[in-house]
Amino acid sequence: MKFSGNNVLVTGGSRGIGAEICKTLANFGLKVWINYRSKPEVADALKDEIEKNGGNAAVIKFDATNETEFIEAINLIVQTDGELSYLVNNAGITNDKLALRMKTEDFTSVINANLTSAFIGCREALKAMSKKRFGAVVNIASIVGETGNAGQVNYAASKGGMIAMSKSFAKEAASRNVRFNCVTPGFIETKMTEILNDEIKKTYEANIPLKKFGTPNDVANGVAFLLSDYASYITGEVLKINGGLYM
Ligand code: NDP
Repeated sequence: MKFSGNNVLVTGGSRGIGAEICKTLANFGLKVWINYRSKPEVADALKDEIEKNGGNAAVIKFDATNETEFIEAINLIVQTDGELSYLVNNAGITNDKLALRMKTEDFTSVINANLTSAFIGCREALKAMSKKRFGAVVNIASIVGETGNAGQVNYAASKGGMIAMSKSFAKEAASRNVRFNCVTPGFIETKMTEILNDEIKKTYEANIPLKKFGTPNDVANGVAFLLSDYASYITGEVLKINGGLYM
């Protein structure tokens, strides 16, 4: 894959899908800014691993829900590298319960963590990218944002909102040569899905046409494609990475 840009910021990049995105993009020659919130040792270990494989990485601590910290982080990247070419809004949380038991705070905190944080990132990245008349953003949404899901009214709303938000950003940013796309992963093997017991996992797998959960690498490859020059005529798109579970 070919990339005209030079660097990328991945929020929540130190573990799970985010870490795999960092490794994949580093393999393609991008300098990767690994954002972490809580565990510096995990982010540092990933940076070391990328560098051992000949890649270029830096770690950057901020809470993606903290507007000031997010803005300062993007400013620091632009000051250091002279640009921000790509952003992946990957940071996300769940807080599942049935709607009748869901407190308003359970709803707004997930919207804040998944959607508002991505909005801040998209807006600030667009400012930086507009100056260069070049850039691309991929937002990690979810199949649940397309289909809805019992027990995930908050999470589904955040991810559905992310899809609509990305399309709107895509319309506003196209004239500046900045692209916005989403991926919508289905069930992917990470800590987020580790909590499912084997029986539930088997039931889910039986419903997936490709009969298995996806891997973080499956998601990372889709993200790399959407950021790359190979996708230079693709904006406002939603790439499903779900084994055929929702077509
Ligand atoms: P993990 O729970 O394994 O990782 C989530 C990452 O997000 C962690 O690094 C976490 O950091 C970080 N994070 C959460 N909140 C913040 C914050 N406020 N600021 C900075 N970082 C934050 O999840 P996955 O790797 O599974 O998920 C990654 C993305 O993919 C999420 O957006 C998720 O919704 C989405 N997704 C996942 C699917 C799956 O099946 N796994 C399916 C569809 C979508 P920390 O270590 O500090 O908590």
